[in-house]
Amino acid sequence: MNRRDLLKAALAALAGSGFGRRSVRLKADTTSGTVASGFSRTNTPVASGFSRTNTPVASGFSRTTAPTPQQQSAPRPADAEYIVVGSGAGGGTVAARLAEAGYTVLLLEAGGDSRTLSGGNPIHPADNTLPDDYDVPAFHPLATENDAMKWDYYVRHYADAARQTRDPKYLKQHDGVWYPRAGTLGGCTAHNAMILVYPHNTDWDELADLTGDPSWRADHMRTYFERLENCEHRRFERLRSRLGWNPSRHGWSGWLTVEKALPEEAIRDRDLRALLFESARETLKEIGRPTGARLESQADPNDWRVVRDGEIGIRYTPLTTKNHQRVGTRERLLDVRDRHPDRLKIEMNARATRVIFEGARAAGVEYRKGERLYRAHAQPSAGDGEVRQVRASREVILAGGAFNTPQLLMLSGIGPQDVLTRHGIAVRVPLAGVGKNLQDRYEVAVVNRMNFDAWDVLRDATFSRDDPRYREWANGRKGVYTTNGAVLSVIARSMIDRPVPDLYCYALLADFRGYKPGYSKVLPDHKN
Ligand SMILES: Cc1cc2nc3c(=O)[nH]c(=O)nc-3n(C[C@H](O)[C@H](O)[C@H](O)COP(=O)(O)OP(=O)(O)OC[C@H]3O[C@@H](n4cnc5c(N)ncnc54)[C@H](O)[C@@H]3O)c2cc1C
Repeated sequence: MNRRDLLKAALAALAGSGFGRRSVRLKADTTSGTVASGFSRTNTPVASGFSRTNTPVASGFSRTTAPTPQQQSAPRPADAEYIVVGSGAGGGTVAARLAEAGYTVLLLEAGGDSRTLSGGNPIHPADNTLPDDYDVPAFHPLATENDAMKWDYYVRHYADAARQTRDPKYLKQHDGVWYPRAGTLGGCTAHNAMILVYPHNTDWDELADLTGDPSWRADHMRTYFERLENCEHRRFERLRSRLGWNPSRHGWSGWLTVEKALPEEAIRDRDLRALLFESARETLKEIGRPTGARLESQADPNDWRVVRDGEIGIRYTPLTTKNHQRVGTRERLLDVRDRHPDRLKIEMNARATRVIFEGARAAGVEYRKGERLYRAHAQPSAGDGEVRQVRASREVILAGGAFNTPQLLMLSGIGPQDVLTRHGIAVRVPLAGVGKNLQDRYEVAVVNRMNFDAWDVLRDATFSRDDPRYREWANGRKGVYTTNGAVLSVIARSMIDRPVPDLYCYALLADFRGYKPGYSKVLPDHKN
């Protein structure tokens, strides 16, 4: 993996939703191998960046158990042109795009389908609270703690124990801070907060400078956003774009639907209305009169004009929902599989354990078939699953997320020599950077308690399927459950001389002090 791949992997972990260029890729030979059927090949135009060969087609979409030594000498036909590991924002997007571009793709996902799994949350541990925890925007904290989907990681931010233990979220029994992840179809798009906020142009331009690759330039990268997005929150801009003028540079027909869940309720709630008004007034006092770009953007953080100018100010929170129900790469993949069943195969409950090499070429993946096989799962299986192998005629693409892609590389012999040797893994490519330098934004919460017992909008909210708020959401996609809890946000600079805004502050109607096991349990208890 070169520096550019590392950067792209880092980008995949940082950005919240799918740009098609975001996974760590291991190059496979593009000139040999065969493709198994179950897949029929078409003459669909080729996506840029990928080249195609006239690989012959073999029969039978088959997966085998681990081969005997005799079998190992004769490579069997490929199962697909591309094998993608992981169905999150990165892997789900790339697998779907490749299939649409005419390639055969086998996607391996360790988890099951979040909408058909059965699992409880901290409020109702004994019940099955899926698919609501997945679907309902306001239930996203419950989704992060649903025990059918969650993989628990504990991370340390400091080597120095004294410093680390000062973190109020540090858990001695786990020697770390809890870091939620979703091991399910859609990856962390199945439990994240659904916020879609476009990055600064300077971020892209810095990547272009670092890599020497001009395709990272901000202006070009915006075209991917336009392809990706189906913006449903700027009606007038949508109309204007039909006339050939699109100054907001939103996308209007992409696969990812983006909505604004302005809680009309919030406007009806007198206390909330007063608070919103006061906050807006105070913010305006601080940041001065709105510029033309700010006025034109109408508080939309993704409007090209405010993005281009690095504007600060008040924003609303665009969410990746469709008809106010969560959408992510799960929906994207299922849609593409339905349209192209001959090209996209999704193998769930398939935990990749290593990349198979033929010489220097990444030729396939070994995986274990079975449910809840990963030990980080909230309820890990006692078994180890069945060992299987699959082969790709073109490429193996690893998109297992910020933790598991480096892990998989290391299990495949690519990583820091000392670490691999310590764990008895034969070193194939010594690469010191693999598994290092994870960077994350840390939640810093300032919690205020109001001088009344509950916001009106939350008064009878129990965050379960039997309250009036749920019925409002279920029957008419209305009310506070259409939101993710963020009623207002402000983009600001932490210091006046910062070249670009570096703070994104959300006002949430919740007692949120950062991610900590059990944090979602307090939702129905603390409503002020
Ligand atoms: C609690 C939380 C809230 C967030 N909120 C937001 C937000 O509001 N907006 C935003 O933009 N971003 C948000 N994010 C970040 C965003 O969800 C992630 O950046 C994004 O999902 C990362 O995509 P990925 O494809 O790299 O990894 P993931 O989404 O983690 O997907 C990795 C997938 O690979 C699978 N996998 C891993 N290892 C293996 C293996 N060995 N074999 C087979 N499959 C494997 C996993 O099961 C998973 O499905 C949030 C993240 C979290 C955790």
